[in-house]
Amino acid sequence: MRNYEPRKRILVTGGAGFVGSHLIDRLLARGDEVVCVDNLFTGTKRNIEHVLDHPRFEFMRHDVTFPLYIEVDQIYNLACPASPIHYQHDPVATTKTSVHGAINMLGLAKRLKARIFQASTSEVYGDPAVHPQREDYWGNVNPIGPRSCYDEGKRCAETLFFDYYRQHQLDIRVARIFNTYGPRMHPNDGRVVSNFIVQALKGEDITLYGDGQQTRSFCYVDDLVEGFLRFMDLPKGANGEPGFPGPINLGNPGEFTIRQLAEKVIELTGSSSQMVFRPLPADDPMQRQPNIERAREYLNDWQPQVQLEDGLRKTIAFFDALLTEDDRGS
Ligand code: NAD
Ligand code: UDP
Repeated sequence: MRNYEPRKRILVTGGAGFVGSHLIDRLLARGDEVVCVDNLFTGTKRNIEHVLDHPRFEFMRHDVTFPLYIEVDQIYNLACPASPIHYQHDPVATTKTSVHGAINMLGLAKRLKARIFQASTSEVYGDPAVHPQREDYWGNVNPIGPRSCYDEGKRCAETLFFDYYRQHQLDIRVARIFNTYGPRMHPNDGRVVSNFIVQALKGEDITLYGDGQQTRSFCYVDDLVEGFLRFMDLPKGANGEPGFPGPINLGNPGEFTIRQLAEKVIELTGSSSQMVFRPLPADDPMQRQPNIERAREYLNDWQPQVQLEDGLRKTIAFFDALLTEDDRGS
């Protein structure tokens, strides 16, 4: 017998980016229809070219700072440049993308009574005075520094999401994402994982900012996307009220110094690159590690499964292929 269960039509903003394109792969694989909205500022068609002809996939080139009128059942709002180099390139546009983008997507969700997910960030905790970071920590953010367009933009977006939740009973899901890596990261985005791998593969110096003793936790993209889906699939509350809105931290609690990461990349690539030290950028947090108790409690014991070494191997293979392709000029 054929299954006449209506399939969901899902909007992914920022779907041509690194994380969004992996999310789209998972949604298509489980049978959903996907509309990808992206202005291709940091994303690329290369990330979605394997699904461009898919019958349940549609791409719309659109900037989320402008209103959007379409019909969908769910929205994942990921549109926003994520790396410091990209979001500081045009800081005003970054704040507009976070804030106007949130207003437009929340307005769309309100009209459609659609569940809406927000890709927030660990940057809402700023340079945290509390370690590891739990969701009830309010953060330590500079409102006027070079990172503020991103940090405060994302904080304002969270405010808007929770006001739509309280004021309009919108079914929101806010996830605070910690550093994530994997294939389809932008090779020139200045993020530490992509920088180190590209430098190692090219035999260039590995640039450690500061003394390399600052820490980060690195989550492989498949683990992150699994967390997104579990969060969005949590049912509504009793009497049709919105379900659990979050915020929920999603990230890998395994903490490494940047120097340890450099050493691991050199080892796995077998590179002859040397480590060199450069000044620490302004407002660069010294420590960052998620507390994921809430995710484990609400998301059916969600926790990252992919070890750093395994994830790095897959990411190295991706960049290796990309650099070889670029060398061939394709
Ligand atoms: P990315 O830059 O690869 O993807 C962002 C996508 O949004 C790109 O495809 C870009 O073209 C698109 N975009 C930017 N501005 C837009 C606009 N005005 N209108 C339409 N599209 C626009 O970054 P990513 O790493 O995939 O991040 C995805 C989301 O997750 C972002 O919201 C980011 O803030 C959040 N996040 C990511 C990380 C991480 O470690 N990757 C950590 C915390 C939060
Ligand atoms: N970093 C580094 N060398 C690089 C790129 C980044 O030492 O070539 C450091 C950076 O100063 C920061 C950490 O790596 O302390 C993570 O940087 P990234 O930009 O990846 O993420 P974020 O600072 O947003 O966590």
